[in-house]
Amino acid sequence: MEGNNIRNKARTEQPKPVMSDFLLQEELAGFVRERIPERVVFAGGAGAYGTFITSADLSRYTRAELFSKAGNSCRIFARFSSFFNEKGTPDGVRDVRGFAVKFMPEGGVWDLAGQNFPVSFVEDPGKFKTLVHVLKKNPETNTENRAAAWEFFSQNPETLHLLLMLFSGRGIPAGYGNMDGFGVNTFSFVNENEEIFWVKFHLKTRQGIRNSEEENPGRLNFAQSLVDDVSSGNFPKWKMYAQIMTPEQAHALDWNPFDPTRVWPHGDFPLAELGELELSSLPKNYFEEVEKAAFSPTNLIDGIGISPDRNLQARLFAYRDAQRYRLGTQAAQPQSSNPHILGDFSQYETVSYPQDPYTQCGLFYTKALKTDEERSRLAENIVKSMIEISSPRKNDIIFRQLCHFFRANVELGMKISTGLGINIDMNMMSHAGF
Ligand code: NDP
Repeated sequence: MEGNNIRNKARTEQPKPVMSDFLLQEELAGFVRERIPERVVFAGGAGAYGTFITSADLSRYTRAELFSKAGNSCRIFARFSSFFNEKGTPDGVRDVRGFAVKFMPEGGVWDLAGQNFPVSFVEDPGKFKTLVHVLKKNPETNTENRAAAWEFFSQNPETLHLLLMLFSGRGIPAGYGNMDGFGVNTFSFVNENEEIFWVKFHLKTRQGIRNSEEENPGRLNFAQSLVDDVSSGNFPKWKMYAQIMTPEQAHALDWNPFDPTRVWPHGDFPLAELGELELSSLPKNYFEEVEKAAFSPTNLIDGIGISPDRNLQARLFAYRDAQRYRLGTQAAQPQSSNPHILGDFSQYETVSYPQDPYTQCGLFYTKALKTDEERSRLAENIVKSMIEISSPRKNDIIFRQLCHFFRANVELGMKISTGLGINIDMNMMSHAGF
């Protein structure tokens, strides 16, 4: 305000030709440069500040001071977003939602740049770029590129796990407060004795999971609900948990614990409670605090590290690279204080795990989804999307993708093929490996 007054005063007292009015030039230059490029993914979002309070002594696993005793706490900033829908897309549409938390304990910053589902579409970072291209709308027509998306999914069966979650009820949450959060990648804990443990992080909503039954873009406003909840004292909360695996356990597995397209079964790796997050205050300046917020898996605190997860390894580069482009010199330096704890990963390089993109998808259908109604709804949602594939290759794409559904679960494959009006014969079943 003071700056404006000085400028106004300067202008009224001393009218100048435009080009010698350097104060006006500053004003115009600031106007043009106040915007930064939009994020390529996770563009539209909202954020809030709050607190994380530790609920247990986890020093057996990690030397992070934050987790050394119950009652320790730190300030946090959480940002929620939409993965592939552009900024300005109304809420109430199907999308993966970003759920990123910046933990700010004394002396460091730890970012958990997660999302509302526990798995990633792909493990191989070489597929990131094509994945994003096929998920983004055609900029000319602002329409979804369904043929390209389903072509990609059908050629990369590891996408099936997240696809099933996305087309289930949770693909359209009722609000940011009504969804869980997951770190997705495998991270590590290191304790005072330099012992390493592999870790997956989970945030479970205390508000309860609530979904929107149908796509209803006009009726939901997630950011406004977050603002309403926080400003009315109805503070959203999440319990935070970790699944913890010893290196010995990792070696004994016949599946890859560093593959983010699959989960660690709860029965084998139970959730250990870490603490609770609560969001209790709002940013004052959206542009400065939310738009310019920059999360990176390279922001680590002593006691928490990375892992041989290839998807995570690529994110270590990609997030910082995106921030250098988006924020330029304003991009903060990484806060990592523990590059030496990254561990010896060479032992994992020769391990070859069998490829199995289907077993956990089958378990998702039969175990995670609890009712026939949820299962039928999943199939209907998939049919609604696939039926609109517009491409001369439509049949190829559909048949290839149907094989994946059948391999995950025959009932699921039947429901989808029936919905698409396709009669399944025994040739097709044998093609699918039955
Ligand atoms: P459990 O039977 O112990 O638990 C099932 C999990 O599925 C719960 O975490 C539940 O979340 C979650 N879930 C339920 N409905 C959906 C949905 N529509 N979208 C996403 N997640 C959902 O699981 P297991 O560990 O034995 O694994 C069985 C299958 O459950 C896995 O193959 C995987 O597909 C799925 N799953 C497993 C998770 C894990 O980390 N182990 C996490 C999420 C899903 P909630 O408790 O909030 O209801």
